[in-house]
Amino acid sequence: MPTNNYFQIRHVLHTMFIILLLTACGRGPAPDGPSATVIGDKVVTEAIEALITLHGEEHRARIERGVSQSASLWREEDGDNERFLAFCREHFIAEQDELDKTFARFEHNIMLISGYLTELRRDLNIPLHLDTGPILPVDALFGQFSPAVHMLDDMFNTKLAFVAVLNFPFSTLNERIEQGQEWSRRQWAETRLAQRFEARVPSSALQQATSAYSAADNYINSYNIHMYRVLDEAGQRLFPEGKVLISHWGLRDELKAQYAEADGLPRQRMIMRIMDRILRQEIPAAVINNPDLDWYVEANTVAPADAPASEAKAAEREQDTRYSIWKNIFLGERAVDTWTPLTPTHIARRFDRGREMTEETVEELLVSVLSSPLIADVAERIRTRLGRDLEAFDIWYPGFKARPALSEADLDNIVRRRYPTPQAFEADIPNILRKLGFNPVMAAFIADRIGVDASRGAGHAMGAGRLSDKARLRTRISPTGMDYKGYNIAMHELGHNVEQVLSFQNIDHTLLRGVPNVAFTEGFAFVFQSRDLEVLGLRGGDATAESSAVLDVLWSTYEISGVALVDMRAWRWLYDNPDATPTQFRDAVIDIAKDVWNSYYAPVFGMKDIPLLAIYSHLVKVGLYTPDYPLGHIIAFQIEQYLKGRNLATEMTRMCAVGNVTPDLWMVTAVGQPISTAPLLDAAKTALQITQ
Ligand SMILES: [Zn+2]
Repeated sequence: MPTNNYFQIRHVLHTMFIILLLTACGRGPAPDGPSATVIGDKVVTEAIEALITLHGEEHRARIERGVSQSASLWREEDGDNERFLAFCREHFIAEQDELDKTFARFEHNIMLISGYLTELRRDLNIPLHLDTGPILPVDALFGQFSPAVHMLDDMFNTKLAFVAVLNFPFSTLNERIEQGQEWSRRQWAETRLAQRFEARVPSSALQQATSAYSAADNYINSYNIHMYRVLDEAGQRLFPEGKVLISHWGLRDELKAQYAEADGLPRQRMIMRIMDRILRQEIPAAVINNPDLDWYVEANTVAPADAPASEAKAAEREQDTRYSIWKNIFLGERAVDTWTPLTPTHIARRFDRGREMTEETVEELLVSVLSSPLIADVAERIRTRLGRDLEAFDIWYPGFKARPALSEADLDNIVRRRYPTPQAFEADIPNILRKLGFNPVMAAFIADRIGVDASRGAGHAMGAGRLSDKARLRTRISPTGMDYKGYNIAMHELGHNVEQVLSFQNIDHTLLRGVPNVAFTEGFAFVFQSRDLEVLGLRGGDATAESSAVLDVLWSTYEISGVALVDMRAWRWLYDNPDATPTQFRDAVIDIAKDVWNSYYAPVFGMKDIPLLAIYSHLVKVGLYTPDYPLGHIIAFQIEQYLKGRNLATEMTRMCAVGNVTPDLWMVTAVGQPISTAPLLDAAKTALQITQ
């Protein structure tokens, strides 16, 4: 079965990971920037000659490379020329056995340092992330407390970073792409070690970025709409008391759920209108997260809760906070730019360094889906099934998902009985894993390394810090137990967690822990999420259901590819207009969203100038992360296709042991072909012939 149909993406990129990315970007200080090096060519030559005299001509290549790398990062505060020469003499390692031991020590200690910092940050964030009672004002401050931002400085100040840089090689993305296939595992691990120290970003710059991400996270996590307080033009309430939806996921998921209701259309249109008010920032600031005000959405007026409509008055709109928050992330990243000359923008860091795929490659993949002629055929199917013309929110049409003959309420009951608490879900993980094909030993091994917590936000998965630590699965669980939506998300997060455990605990080099980029971990998350009903014992796949699910993946990929393009263009706009006001940025994003709509959606939907794609909260809070969602679908589809007729557990275990190499190399090793949309588009073509 191909992948996630429900499309509930809950992956939160932990700030720690962003820091790790930041610390590993670029190659050396800018020649004229604040980081200009102090070691001249003459001293470099002198150091090289001295080391060759000491160790022999046969080490020339390593010596030349190591000394040049170290000199490119050496600054005045690191010491004078004599200090540099002495450092090179003392720390260049020629003898293989000592080099091996030193490498192993680095690998182990970096696992510890990164691990403790991850754990510290995670634990300080517990009051913000977990449902542990009221948040205190100091909790937000602890949320911003981030000793990890000093890690790189400390590594250079202690000269540890210089020892790594003197002895292990830097590489370019081109070299990794072109030569990586021939490298040994140890060479790959050395590459990842050296990459950590390619750029020297000062903690002040990292701190600004971290604070911006943390502020954005808090802003989004408390952006709730009290739906009972929402009134239509006739003054009617469309939603039951107590329904609180977070933007945009909660709103979007409610919109999707309303397809199952005979009278759902007015509610869907209302949600669409609310989204439009939010992204245009016309929403009254006072109704956000507020149960005490009635909101007449069309008139855009507010009144005290349950007061007569005649008391409704215009209220101050949200003053483009959404775009100000997003722009602050840009400003935080721009403070980093100066220090990463080889990846001098956040865009370059996200693509060349983070994803190790070029922006052009990713855009080509997205456009190949967006512009596929198959999309019009799928849209025609949706039109027929709905019995009406498409509306813009039908980008979230969920009807291709194979559903059991059970209502959401029945599913809620089944899941609530099974998982009344986070502990109940945690205790059932070995059982879930066995149902997915893991043998009892492996299931227990993995389950022992995953803990489950009740989250405040929508949910996320957080990898372990050290080898002795557990991955955490965070999901929203109400006092009455886990509902189906929460379970569906929990299965998604469990996919992340199992990948996190296997690609860390079960790998030859912890420096190669993880997967090539976050799209791959989304891939496994979708694989798990798509089997949620199967795990409940509720579905057996048949050919029609499978074909239908292929169309669902295509439609979901089509939807989110547009969001990703908006994200990419918005960031390009920010770099072109760094001094824009939040209001100007808002207008630009709305224009960009309309342009993307007009290019790829208007021909299919028959309506123009819809800015809906800009509603995604990830745009605001994660800084160019959304391209990973369509990549996740594409990659997950390739993995799923490969897994057909094979054992998920065996194959996933094997794939996760590949670790953090380049995306195409990983994919070739895992499924025998590079990343491509062809398998998805080919399968969709066939599916269109089978599905009605
Ligand atoms: Zn995810």
